[in-house]
Amino acid sequence: MNAIIINRVSDEHQLEGYSLDVQEAEGKKYAQQKGFKILKVFSFQETASKYLQRKIFNEIISLIEKYTKTTALAVIGEKYDRVYRNHLNSAQIVHYIESGKIELHFYKEGRILTKNSPPSDFFLNDVMTSVNQYASRNISAEARKGMFGKAKDGWLPHKPPIGYVNVATSERTDKNKRRSIIEPAPWGEDLIQRMYRLRADGHSLALVRQKVIEEGLVPTDRIARFHISLVEKIFKNCFYMGEFIWGGERFTGKHRPFVSKKLWEEVQQTFISKAVAMIRARKKRGVFSGFLKCACGCTVTYDPKDKPSGRHYEYYRCSNGRGIHDKLKYTSEDRIFEQLSPAIESISISERLAKDIAKALNKAEEKAKAAHRRNAEDLNARLKEMEEAEDKVYDDFKKGVLDDEGYRRQFARVRAKREQLGKVLCEAQADITGAVLVVARKILELAQNATELYLRRSTQERREFLEKILSNPVLEGVTVRYELKKPFRILSEMASSPTWGG
Ligand SMILES: [Zn+2]
Repeated sequence: MNAIIINRVSDEHQLEGYSLDVQEAEGKKYAQQKGFKILKVFSFQETASKYLQRKIFNEIISLIEKYTKTTALAVIGEKYDRVYRNHLNSAQIVHYIESGKIELHFYKEGRILTKNSPPSDFFLNDVMTSVNQYASRNISAEARKGMFGKAKDGWLPHKPPIGYVNVATSERTDKNKRRSIIEPAPWGEDLIQRMYRLRADGHSLALVRQKVIEEGLVPTDRIARFHISLVEKIFKNCFYMGEFIWGGERFTGKHRPFVSKKLWEEVQQTFISKAVAMIRARKKRGVFSGFLKCACGCTVTYDPKDKPSGRHYEYYRCSNGRGIHDKLKYTSEDRIFEQLSPAIESISISERLAKDIAKALNKAEEKAKAAHRRNAEDLNARLKEMEEAEDKVYDDFKKGVLDDEGYRRQFARVRAKREQLGKVLCEAQADITGAVLVVARKILELAQNATELYLRRSTQERREFLEKILSNPVLEGVTVRYELKKPFRILSEMASSPTWGG
């Protein structure tokens, strides 16, 4: 007769020195005594995931299907709870037994379950399965209880969201595991706070993502997985303001929040449905709302007008908060766009110039790296000096040049200096030149064919684009004045000068 062996070992068994190997050897011995031919040995680790356990069980079922077409198969296990632990699997196995396809052998108890077994044996099997299922439910209920306790204690019972890390403490739980708490990752707070501020300022998810990456706030190894969906998740997770939801309940966390409750709620408001947002936007916001300042210093507000003729005008005017103007002058949206278009043209550069600039950027990068290396070497040398100074203070103390009090003071002074130097060195080692150049390349990309790109965009996108390249646009009467932001000013100078050489 062909046979398969099923082994299962729990954590407790392993603690008692009862391993899968021992079970396997005993199962094989039993098969030999019976004169069975072993087809395969399956082994479960009790701690394996449910998914893995199900996978192994499915393998067992397909093997039974395969080898019982003409002859019966012996399934060997140590005892009831080693072969299956729930009614679903038990029913499958019992079905094969009753149809005469398999025999179940429990070698430890010397029991065999075949289609000819008395009903009492099947009843015993059912009872044992119930007992086992009860035990395993009990274990998961215990685990859940433990997790609930942790949540009530203020700690999220599972992996924290991006920006935080689990840190093991030296404290032990009653199960002798190291208690873990949640702490901010070194970059977490800067990133999350910046994201929430950007969102509260009305930036789209895509723009928030782009900005924080450009600003070097997202760790390099996380950029690839920093999707827009993750950005949205970050905004909707109350963990960042100090609370969390577990098992359908809301808890107050002991972890350090990154944003205030007020800011978090402000950001939730930005997720109201698009239709509602659009109606609101139409009501009081124009494309250039909050974009221009009047020459008098007041903000320029959106003040659309519907003429009796039925025509609609997108007008802007000074809010006249200081009462400087006797008569308000209205400027249309089109008129503002018209006056800003030369800015776009002035930064449009040819492909050749773009290539030249890229080359120069690479050269600058090399130079910056070399300077950076020299700086680090210098800092290292100074750090070494400090270490020597520390030794000298100790020597003086030993020789009696310094008394106890003097030693302590001197030591503290040197140590503080040394620590400060160490910090500076750390900062110098974080390569910031790379991040600056990423931004520079992005600017270059924007500048190439800027006009063409600009014209293809919606009015809202055009405004965002203008915001990127202009600083302090001012409306004087009906005339718009502006300055290009520094990198674009340089670009526009390059584009208009034929003698740009590097
Ligand atoms: Zn004004």
